[in-house]
Amino acid sequence: MLYYIILTQVCGLKCLYCMNEPNSSIMPIHLEVDIKRLKRFISRDPEPIICFYGGDPSMRPDLIRRIMDSIYAKHYVIQTNGIMLHRLGEDYIRRFDTILLSIDGRREVNDYYRGLGVYDKVIDRARYIRSIGYRGDLVARMAVSSRSDIYKEVTHLLQLDGLFSHVHWQLDVLWDYPPMQRYRDFNGWVERYNNGVSRLIHLWIREMEDGHVLGIAPFKGSMWSMLTGERRRYLRCGSGIDAYAIATDGRILACPIAPEFRFNVVGYIDRDDIESIRDRALIGEPCLSCSYYDLCGGRCLFTNKTMFWGLEGFRRVCETVFHLIDELRRVESRVRELVSEGIISLEDIKYPPYTNSVEIIP
Ligand code: SF4
Ligand code: SF4
Repeated sequence: MLYYIILTQVCGLKCLYCMNEPNSSIMPIHLEVDIKRLKRFISRDPEPIICFYGGDPSMRPDLIRRIMDSIYAKHYVIQTNGIMLHRLGEDYIRRFDTILLSIDGRREVNDYYRGLGVYDKVIDRARYIRSIGYRGDLVARMAVSSRSDIYKEVTHLLQLDGLFSHVHWQLDVLWDYPPMQRYRDFNGWVERYNNGVSRLIHLWIREMEDGHVLGIAPFKGSMWSMLTGERRRYLRCGSGIDAYAIATDGRILACPIAPEFRFNVVGYIDRDDIESIRDRALIGEPCLSCSYYDLCGGRCLFTNKTMFWGLEGFRRVCETVFHLIDELRRVESRVRELVSEGIISLEDIKYPPYTNSVEIIP
């Protein structure tokens, strides 16, 4: 089971699509749950995975160190903008199995969304993480919005001297209101995005022909399901199924991003255990009757429940999922051949190796 621990609402950046605004009426700004209480809850699980989450969890290195020192986890994961991560200390950084660094692609695109100079800082921190001997999964975690050219952003991040093991992205869609406010022509953008995804898949296959599987997380996770026949009849992010978040006041959330929504609050760490809260927040229509559900898994519980863009806007975004899956299906037989010819192995495609907070479907 994956446990997100929300350490703080504070983040040093103010990205365009997030505009982080800590709000103590939603939950305390910083974690107020005693470590012993956290431990009591998490340690019932013999193989917990802990993901530090925020705001930016790196703003609270003291808490990260205390938790890592006192609560066993099979895997430690962190989602961070990376800028303050060095304050944690080398030994602790090396103990992470997955580090997800927020970066959106090329400098000009990243800095438009995240602020001037942020690209250079994040790349500098990524280099630092590698320089201290970090050999785990360093994931470039992108938000993809109106200025992004998916082909250019992903290839840029993959070409940075092998700095990132994987690139993953989430679309800046469906989580805001009014709908599509950061897009001038959303339909046109979707078309360009889909074309870029097709180009990326061609590149992915070309590289595979030479025995090299590029770490493009959405492609790997989806293709793995196709090759193995895995029917993904539940959310790939695991929210409310094999992933829960612990809010700063000890409430248990299905998804880490929305402590203010009632559907998302499924329990309380001092009162509930995982078995008693399972299935309290489940994905609903239109996903359950969608013919892509087996591979998509429902994409996102939060957007399925909130429907901020209405059903029509939701379905428009689903066209990106249909396109991704259709395009991967078109190359599935070639990937099978490459596996059977021994040019790549099935294990090269597997991702994520454990629930590491990567949602796979953008
Ligand atoms: S493609 Fe859309 S409707 Fe279908 S399962 Fe995914 S999110 Fe749900
Ligand atoms: S994909 Fe949606 S439901 Fe899942 S963790 Fe992300 S925001 Fe939450």
